[in-house]
Amino acid sequence: MIIILTGAPGAGKGTQADLLSQREGFKKISTGDALRKHIREGTEIGNKAKSYMSEGKLVPDNVLLGILQSELDAVRGFNILLDGYPRNVAQARSLQEIVGSDGIRAAVHLEVDPSALVQRISGRRTCVNCGTSYHVVTSPAKKDSICDRCGADIVQRPDDNEEKVKVRLGVYESETRPVLDFYRDLGLYHRVDGNGSTEEVYKALAAQLRSLA
Ligand code: ADP
Repeated sequence: MIIILTGAPGAGKGTQADLLSQREGFKKISTGDALRKHIREGTEIGNKAKSYMSEGKLVPDNVLLGILQSELDAVRGFNILLDGYPRNVAQARSLQEIVGSDGIRAAVHLEVDPSALVQRISGRRTCVNCGTSYHVVTSPAKKDSICDRCGADIVQRPDDNEEKVKVRLGVYESETRPVLDFYRDLGLYHRVDGNGSTEEVYKALAAQLRSLA
């Protein structure tokens, strides 16, 4: 079963997907994490993706398709959470072609007030190795700049500054929001309030997913 987690940048998809993986046994696929890994390793995909990502723009669909396919192959047979894909309607259509119409169980939209998003993202810090997210105020790491989970460095992503965040929110509104209607039309759309604390949102999301199991 595949669950798509949708929501604006900063809505908390990655954080919640990590918790659901740890506590409910889901496998998370994050296209953003996969792209950042390619960039770190200096692959051809990473070199193609780099400039788009640092500008806050979408990486071309054909680049994402290869990533999606290899990530799906790696977790075949598990319950999967998709974080960061699809980000436009063309990607939603490609996903339907790859997994078939029965493959997707739901698209769950984490809805957060726009005023909170910029604040969440500008305080976000991310582990360079495992992608775990922290927030300087609401969820700092135990040791400054060191990941609690894997011990690697925690940094601010280059696209998490205020200027790039505005670009990303614009891209979200024009390209990703129409994806919600795509899933509404298929009867797969669900909404969860993402405004509370991490644990409050987790409870609501886990309850929603259990009702779908
Ligand atoms: P966020 O959800 O906070 O925007 P992500 O880590 O999911 O963060 O994505 C970071 C960047 O990676 C995006 O701004 C985009 O450049 C690129 N990216 C990730 N997933 C996709 C995708 N499905 N299609 C195109 N670009 C993507």
